[in-house]
Amino acid sequence: MLNALSVDVEDYYQVSAFESVVRLEDWGVRESRVERNTHRVLDLLDEFHVKATFFVLGWVAEKNHALIQVISRRGHEIASHGYSHRLIYNQTPDDFRQETRRAKRVVEDAIGHQIIGYRAASYSITQESLWSLDILAEEGFQYDSSIFPIRHDRYGIPHHQRFFHILNGNGQQAIAEIPLSTVRIAGFNFPMAGGGYFRLLPYAITDLAMRYLNQQEREPAVFYFHPWEIDPDQPRIEASWLSHFRHYTNLGRMEWKLRKLLSRFSFAPIREVYASSLNSSVAAVLKSDAA
Ligand SMILES: [Zn+2]
Repeated sequence: MLNALSVDVEDYYQVSAFESVVRLEDWGVRESRVERNTHRVLDLLDEFHVKATFFVLGWVAEKNHALIQVISRRGHEIASHGYSHRLIYNQTPDDFRQETRRAKRVVEDAIGHQIIGYRAASYSITQESLWSLDILAEEGFQYDSSIFPIRHDRYGIPHHQRFFHILNGNGQQAIAEIPLSTVRIAGFNFPMAGGGYFRLLPYAITDLAMRYLNQQEREPAVFYFHPWEIDPDQPRIEASWLSHFRHYTNLGRMEWKLRKLLSRFSFAPIREVYASSLNSSVAAVLKSDAA
């Protein structure tokens, strides 16, 4: 079964864990490592003949058109990771619409064609910010992959549907939601989708969970990681103990783990894994528009 592979393209200092320490105004003065790290990701994926979806931060795309063009030219899907990595539930709907529009335009200008996918900074589409899905649909996105159906201090909708579904929002526009993968044990959803969870837990747990999803639940996994996660030498940023733990633990093991995962499972970009479902959802919207 084809699983969905995604890469959230942002630099090591742009993550939510360091939001209070590294301000947006100071991003430009930090040593940038995103270009080099993303090239390493591209080479790694080439080695395994795998294509992925790259959710690109608008700020990064604006500074580095060439990088986004290279990702696209090498056959990967480009999608949006917003502009400034601000959490959606900390924004007003108006701010969010402006940010989203700007981020989409920057990326589309760089690659010369439309994008259809969106992922929020730190999965910040929660119960309080579900309104953002209507805005995403209105701004031309066909799918969102931001809802994490788990309980977490910063994100998550614990009882949300776990697999691909269509959200009708305000009844005008539909958008497909493609949640990050979880496994359900004893009535609770546990994250198994990549990133920090993949880095912190032993490899075998993800392997087992992926197999369970594919073979028992007959569903693709939606997996993600970041270019900075394969960069153990990145500069260290002073932050809380918890942020440090989440960001820096096992960076040196990540590439080995990814190699193992890529050799044992099949992956493709989100728009390819869900092509038939996305096409039928768009067709359904067009039909209801015509009616
Ligand atoms: Zn991010």
